[in-house]
Amino acid sequence: MLAVKMLPCVVCGRAGPNDAHHCQSDRFGARKVSDYEVIPLCPRHHRHEYGPGAYHYSKRAWEEKHGPDHGFLDLVARQLSAK
Ligand SMILES: [Zn+2]
Repeated sequence: MLAVKMLPCVVCGRAGPNDAHHCQSDRFGARKVSDYEVIPLCPRHHRHEYGPGAYHYSKRAWEEKHGPDHGFLDLVARQLSAK
């Protein structure tokens, strides 16, 4: 969890610390969310109060732009193992 927060935002590359977002697109929403299925998102791309670019403001709009959130898990895993 903590290591993920220190990674750059997967959308814009903003340097950490960022928020750890629990993946919930598609099948990922249907079961208990694991702490390993998290991706780093900056506040602007994550939090509702930041408006239209944020995942929790409009999940559908976010996915149309960036694809499903779990699509970034491979990238995050690679970044974590590269440390
Ligand atoms: Zn961002």
